[in-house]
Amino acid sequence: MEKHYLYDTHIHTAQTSPCGKLDAADTVDYYAAHGYAGLVITDHLHAEFIRKSDNGKGWNHVIDLYLDGYRAAKKRGDTIGFDVILGAEMRFEDNNNDYLVYDINEAWLRNHPYVICREAREFYEKFHNEVLIMHAHPYRDGNLTVFEDAVHGIELINTNPRHENHTDRAVDLAKRHPEYYLQAGSDMHQIPDRCQAGIISHRRIRDSHEYAEVIRSGNYDLYAPQFPQYINEYHQLMNGR
Ligand SMILES: [Zn+2]
Ligand SMILES: [Zn+2]
Repeated sequence: MEKHYLYDTHIHTAQTSPCGKLDAADTVDYYAAHGYAGLVITDHLHAEFIRKSDNGKGWNHVIDLYLDGYRAAKKRGDTIGFDVILGAEMRFEDNNNDYLVYDINEAWLRNHPYVICREAREFYEKFHNEVLIMHAHPYRDGNLTVFEDAVHGIELINTNPRHENHTDRAVDLAKRHPEYYLQAGSDMHQIPDRCQAGIISHRRIRDSHEYAEVIRSGNYDLYAPQFPQYINEYHQLMNGR
């Protein structure tokens, strides 16, 4: 039988995200105990975080603080053989959309000071050959501003229970864009959010680059046991491609 590796693609930590309520190392332990092979830490990297963290100390200091949650998770993951992957959830100055960014590493973050202080489209135009840019929960709470040609794909299913994510509209968007990569994630901030979504890969994923490779290959399935109807829609959509 082919092996399966389950990864949550969208995780916040209490160490880095002010809205994150759960310790990074505890989160790793919980996911490992519930059958996951790994997760991607996607803490918020937005203007407010940067302003608060910079405080006259500069970009490297911002990244030191930004990596707190990732490092705590990675340290724990390395001791138990669980894959902890670096991502980021960015927000740009021109609107309130959130973008999940993969295929990054610490050096990339350090080498792009204040990278998020740009428009979403400008970010895509500048970096789309370097990183993977996925629109997080594109229609959350009635969002009307989706730059459809400035992302590689979307978070089709987001299981955060404290928002109305309008997944049906995300499915329509994905139908209009057969070129989009699609993923599912929990957007984990609190206890009830844990282990609710992810991707099922046929290969192990050890870092952000390998994560992007799997997504670009299309060789994975989506996981969201609370939403079988959307998984169904996803399968129909992929069969039609
Ligand atoms: Zn948050
Ligand atoms: Zn998030």
